[in-house]
Amino acid sequence: MPTAAVAGSPSVDWPAFAAALGPIPHSLDPPLVKQKSRDFYWYSPILKHQLKGKFGDIVVTPRSEDDVLEVARLCVAWGVPLTVRGAGTGNYGQAMPLEGGVILEMTGLDRILSLDGGVLSVEAGKKLADLEAETQPQGWEMRFHPSTRRTATIGGFVAGGSTGVGAINYGLLRDRGNVLGLRVVTLEDQPRVLDLRGDDVLKATHAYGCNGIITRVELPMAPVQPWADVIAHFPDLASAMRFAQALCVADPIAKKLVTVIAAPVPQQFFRSLKDVIPGGRSVALCMVAENGLEPFEQLVADHAGGVCYCKRGDELAHVTPLYEFTWNHTTLQALKVDKSITYLQTVFSPGRHVETVLQMADHFGDEVPMHVEFVRLNGEVACFGLQLVRYTTPERLQEIMDYHEAQGCPIFNPHTYILEDGGMKEIDAVQLAFKRQSDPHGLLNPGKMRAWWES
Ligand SMILES: Cc1cc2nc3c(=O)[nH]c(=O)nc-3n(C[C@H](O)[C@H](O)[C@H](O)COP(=O)(O)OP(=O)(O)OC[C@H]3O[C@@H](n4cnc5c(N)ncnc54)[C@H](O)[C@@H]3O)c2cc1C
Repeated sequence: MPTAAVAGSPSVDWPAFAAALGPIPHSLDPPLVKQKSRDFYWYSPILKHQLKGKFGDIVVTPRSEDDVLEVARLCVAWGVPLTVRGAGTGNYGQAMPLEGGVILEMTGLDRILSLDGGVLSVEAGKKLADLEAETQPQGWEMRFHPSTRRTATIGGFVAGGSTGVGAINYGLLRDRGNVLGLRVVTLEDQPRVLDLRGDDVLKATHAYGCNGIITRVELPMAPVQPWADVIAHFPDLASAMRFAQALCVADPIAKKLVTVIAAPVPQQFFRSLKDVIPGGRSVALCMVAENGLEPFEQLVADHAGGVCYCKRGDELAHVTPLYEFTWNHTTLQALKVDKSITYLQTVFSPGRHVETVLQMADHFGDEVPMHVEFVRLNGEVACFGLQLVRYTTPERLQEIMDYHEAQGCPIFNPHTYILEDGGMKEIDAVQLAFKRQSDPHGLLNPGKMRAWWES
């Protein structure tokens, strides 16, 4: 057993490490290792440049928590970095190994352990679509899910995501009560399994896998609703925004998704909806309970709009889910047409969100086409902007972000892979203290947590 290997150094004898893994599935095959070293970092022209040469050395695919513990033990013993991977759909290079080493692909841990009274206990590598395929027949669905529902894992969502479809009802992952418990494997000298409950879950939530390997997640679920996918169109962005706000506060109309996208984005970039959305119109893309469709249509008419698309029941099986045009999928649809597009992540705070969105749309015009998701922030309706940006230079991108911040619209910078520089902009003392305990050698996803190397 080697004792002094340097993390990520070429001195690691990878075939010997692979042999030490014994029966735990793994691969040193270069094309596979390359493929599993990627996520959707290329959404950002900045990250695309910074991360293009970053790859791991070996892919390991544990089948159980015991396998995870054994890989953790080996990584500590060999001084090898470990980057956890779910489905690799993160946007900021979160799952990309900066210092090589093990890529721990969690998709083999895919069992639902229990679903009792609307509380789900599930292994971290379970894909979200598979998860709901099992829970929906029992009457339960996820409170919210990323628009990557069809590909992402639950562990990756908790460790790398923030919220998504359903945010208008339940807010964000970090809101107390949305994650009830996590089981986490540490990279201590003797790796352990820790059970985090209550506010302790925040020690590993949205920590990019720097604080431990999540093996199990406990979540409260929502009762299943028959949702309809509906697109309403409006003469201008202002009418679409005012409609969306009115819908969000119309409590009798149940909804799961309220997205507003300004013209000409749908017409220019939503290829499969090109015959559906009238020219020049801004749109609201919504998921509305079937029993709310009638009052929904009245509300649309009150705002000078019309409904141009409505799919419900069995029809939904034959079309792309509408949520795949929303959240970060809006940017993906645009990137399919125009590779120079990138995006922002902006908070438009409760109270003045509608007018601020309209001001920003006026200010930047077609350089920053408006796209917002309506969410509930601490109980109040607000908007998250995922505006598109017609990218020119890094300097101009920074100017655009600075202008938003100066106008009181915080940016969650999607053009950095560093945890703190994205959202919180400050050291999370609780997460840092937990990392010191759970990963004393700094082997987990090294280079992502600024607090670690600055403390
Ligand atoms: C088109 C598109 C749309 C998206 N829409 C949304 C959205 O609506 N909302 C949203 O929040 N995000 C969204 N994302 C980002 C991403 O898809 C989600 O956050 C998703 O849940 C990540 O899951 P994953 O399994 O792909 O995780 P990965 O990308 O594999 O990992 C994400 C991070 O979590 C870590 N990680 C993964 N599994 C574990 C584990 N078991 N233990 C510890 N750490 C772990 C990884 O190291 C990495 O840092 C979108 C991305 C794309 C490309």
